Amino acid sequence: MTTVDSCDVCIVGAGLAGLNALFAASRYLRADQKVVLLDRRPRVGGMWVDVYPYVRLHQPHGMFTAGNIAWTLDRDPGYLATKDEVLDHFAHCLAQIRQRVQVEEWLGWSYVSDTAHDGGVRVVCRTGSGDDHVLETGRLIKAYGFGIGTNDPLQVSSTRVRSVSPDFCDMRGGEIAADTAAVWIIGSGKTAMDTAHALITRNPGREINMLAGSGTFFSSRDRFFPDGAQRWWGGKTLSALSGELSHLFDGTNEHEVARWMRERFGTGPTARADNFLLGVLSEAESRTIAAGLGEAVMGHLVDAVDADDGVDLVLDDGAAKRVPAGSWLVNCTGYLGNTEQPYEPYTNDDGTVLSIQTRSATMHFTSYEGYFMTHLMMLDKLRDIPLYALDLQELLHRSKAVMPFAMFTLARYNLGLIADAVPVGVFNECGLDFDRWYPWHRRTAAALWFMRTHRGESAGLRHTLDTIGERFEVRCGPLDSVLRASAVAAG
Ligand SMILES: Cc1cc2nc3c(=O)[nH]c(=O)nc-3n(C[C@H](O)[C@H](O)[C@H](O)COP(=O)(O)OP(=O)(O)OC[C@H]3O[C@@H](n4cnc5c(N)ncnc54)[C@H](O)[C@@H]3O)c2cc1C
Repeated sequence: MTTVDSCDVCIVGAGLAGLNALFAASRYLRADQKVVLLDRRPRVGGMWVDVYPYVRLHQPHGMFTAGNIAWTLDRDPGYLATKDEVLDHFAHCLAQIRQRVQVEEWLGWSYVSDTAHDGGVRVVCRTGSGDDHVLETGRLIKAYGFGIGTNDPLQVSSTRVRSVSPDFCDMRGGEIAADTAAVWIIGSGKTAMDTAHALITRNPGREINMLAGSGTFFSSRDRFFPDGAQRWWGGKTLSALSGELSHLFDGTNEHEVARWMRERFGTGPTARADNFLLGVLSEAESRTIAAGLGEAVMGHLVDAVDADDGVDLVLDDGAAKRVPAGSWLVNCTGYLGNTEQPYEPYTNDDGTVLSIQTRSATMHFTSYEGYFMTHLMMLDKLRDIPLYALDLQELLHRSKAVMPFAMFTLARYNLGLIADAVPVGVFNECGLDFDRWYPWHRRTAAALWFMRTHRGESAGLRHTLDTIGERFEVRCGPLDSVLRASAVAAG
C-alpha cells in the first residue's frame, strides 16, 4: 500500500539552498499551512553533515544563514564558524522558521519523481526502508545544490603510501596525527588550505607538502572583510567588485580578468595559481601555510608507484616526484563536478516546480537561488521574468577558468531583473549579502547605486552571457529559448 499525504510546499534538500527556500516560502504561507522538508541525509545541513570535521566557514558567519536569521553564537563577527557551529545554526534556522509555519521533516527519505497533478504536483518519495510514499503538494522545490558528496581516498598503485580522504580521516587526531611521516596534500583549493592549516598549526616541524595542480588563488578575506574601523572606509564590498567585474569581463577574457583579480584582491600560498573558485582566505592563513609547507610542487597526480627507495608520485606531464615510503596522501582534489546531474530546467510550464541545481543555474550561489527564486515562485512570477539560465555543469567541463566570472555575470544580470519584480523587502531580508559586513551607510550607498545602474548595464551583461553560451556551446539564455534550442538540437 502506498500512503498519500499532502502539503502546501515540498522542499527536497535540507541544505543552505533548501533552508533559504523554506525561509522565503514561510513569508507567504499562513501558520496553519504545511511544508514538508525532505532529505536523504539524516539531519538538516546538507553537505555540512558529511564534510570533513575540521572545515571552517570561509566567510564571517553572520552571512551564512537562511534569510536574515541571526546567529546565536556569542563570537566576534569575523569568527569563522566550525562544522558543529554551522550545523547548530541550521537547527536554529529551522526552529525560527517553525514559528511562522508548520514544517514536517522527512529526513533519511529520497525524492523519486514528480508529475503535474490537479494544479499542483504529485511527488513520489521513498522512505529509508525503501517504501514509496506519495505527496500531493501545491509547489515543489528541488534544492539539490551542487550535489556535493564525500570524497574517497585516491586510488593509487603503490602499497607503500597511506592514501586518505579528509572526509574519513581527521587531520587533528588518530593515526595521521600520531605519526611523523611526511604528508602530501593533493590539491590546492579550500579543502587543501583547511587541511594544510590544520596540519601545520598542530604539528610544527612536520614535513607537510602540497601537490598543487595548477594552483588556486583565493579572495583575500582582509580585503573583503576588514576588521574594526576599516569597515567604515576600507575594504571592498562584494557589490563593488561585481560591478567592476561586469565591466571588465566580456565572455572571452577570463585569464586577463583572473590576473586583474589576483593582483588586486587575491591571496594564496603558491607562486603559481591559475584557478579561482570563489574561495576566501586571509593573508595570515596564506602566510602560515606558505611558511609551513616543505615543498609545493605544481602538477596533477596520475598515480603513485613503488620505486626502489621510495614511492614516485607520477604527474600528468610525465614527471615524477620521489617521496619516502610511508608518506600520507590526502585527497584534497575538490568536490565540484564530482556528481553529474541530469539536465532539468529551473521551472516547469506552470511554475509549480522550482529546481535548484547546476544544469539550469540562475545565480552564482545556490543559497541565493533558494532565496530569490522561491520568492519569485511564491509571487507566481517564475515564468514571467526572462531570467538567464546557465548550464554550469557543462561549463565546468569546458572551462574552469571562465566559471567564476560567468557566475558573477549571471547573478548580476538576473538580480537586476529580480530587483524590478519583487517588493524591496525581499532584498532587505536577504542576510546572505556580503555587503552586510559593512555599516549601514555603505550598504545603502551600494544598494542605491545598483538600483540606479542595473538597467543600463543589462545589455552588456546579456551580451557577455550570450558570448559564453556560444563560445563554450553550453545552454545559456532565457529558459524558453534554451528549451527551444534543446528541442531543435534533439530533432
Ligand atoms: C569543502 C567545502 C567547503 C565549503 N565551504 C563553504 C563556506 O565556507 N562558505 C560557503 O558559503 N560555502 C561553502 N561551501 C559551498 C557549500 O556547498 C554551500 O555553501 C552550501 O552549503 C551548499 O548548500 P546547498 O543546499 O546548495 O547544497 P547541499 O548542502 O549539498 O544540500 C543539498 C541537499 O539535497 C539533498 N538531496 C539531493 N538530491 C536528493 C534527493 N533525490 N532526495 C533527497 N534529498 C536529496 C542532499 O542530500 C543534500 O543534503 C563549501 C563547499 C565544500 C564542498
